[in-house]
Amino acid sequence: MQIVFLGTSSGAPTTKRNVSGIGLRLLQRGSWWLFDCGEGTQHQIMHSILNISQLEKIFITHLHGDHIFGLMGMLASRSLRGSDTSKITLYGPKGLEEYIQAIMKISPIHLQYPLEIKITEEGVIYEDDEMIVEAAKVKHRVPAFAYSVTEKPRPGAFKIKLAKEAGIPKGPWYASLKAGKTITLEDGRVFDGKDFVNPPQPGLKVAFSGDTIPCEAMVKLAEGADLLIHESTYVHKHLELAERSGHSTAYQAASIAEAAGVKELILTHISPRYDTEDGPITLDDMVKEAQSVFPTTILAEDLAIHEIKRTRQK
Ligand SMILES: [Zn+2]
Ligand SMILES: [Zn+2]
Repeated sequence: MQIVFLGTSSGAPTTKRNVSGIGLRLLQRGSWWLFDCGEGTQHQIMHSILNISQLEKIFITHLHGDHIFGLMGMLASRSLRGSDTSKITLYGPKGLEEYIQAIMKISPIHLQYPLEIKITEEGVIYEDDEMIVEAAKVKHRVPAFAYSVTEKPRPGAFKIKLAKEAGIPKGPWYASLKAGKTITLEDGRVFDGKDFVNPPQPGLKVAFSGDTIPCEAMVKLAEGADLLIHESTYVHKHLELAERSGHSTAYQAASIAEAAGVKELILTHISPRYDTEDGPITLDDMVKEAQSVFPTTILAEDLAIHEIKRTRQK
């Protein structure tokens, strides 16, 4: 799994940061999913390694403008290309369907591909053979959800060299061993499949907070994740502002990461007020604040690519 940050600013863009948008590249599937779609996200996609043709799902955390104002433009541009006919499934809070329909009614557009809209509820919202997506209600000024994406465990690799060395003939015997069965060869030798298959590989997990004040639901959703991407709109000195606007501080985001036992934390949704070189409070201060609680913290940067690794750093 790869994360591509498309926008990391809160509220309004700056010259260095666009508003919310995060791509999740699913390399084994040749597709990617988008989390939130602030204005200008389609431009950021063009500047990134992501390809709009391969966009498969969009998850909206809440209906504030800095998370959805880029949606209609991006969907329309994808349609204009004409060649992208694959379906997009859009998930988001109640009101999202009305929002899309109202725009499409007043500013007519006929999408050249199917768009399915699903209203997000708490719990598992999507599942297939490889992935599970869960949503949790978080605490913001409007109904808001956080999402987690978990890969299902992959079967362990077959130890083909060992099978060859044991002189087991290829073909159906291999298939039986791979399935964990015990086989008896014609010469009477018996082999247990368990000895020929590596243990299953646990899947990766990533959680996206969207906008929220620190809450227990977020800790639960992110539990044991390989990566937590949490909003960090303010530094703790501005806690009052954070509380008033329904956001988290860097310190609070780090505390959530700590409580959830995640491996890595990336801070995003940064207030433009800190995006200056000369302070008084800089982004450096923000990262240090979080690292004092949770050392494996970094700050998201627009267009940065982050590979989610399996190794435990903590
Ligand atoms: Zn926001
Ligand atoms: Zn918001």
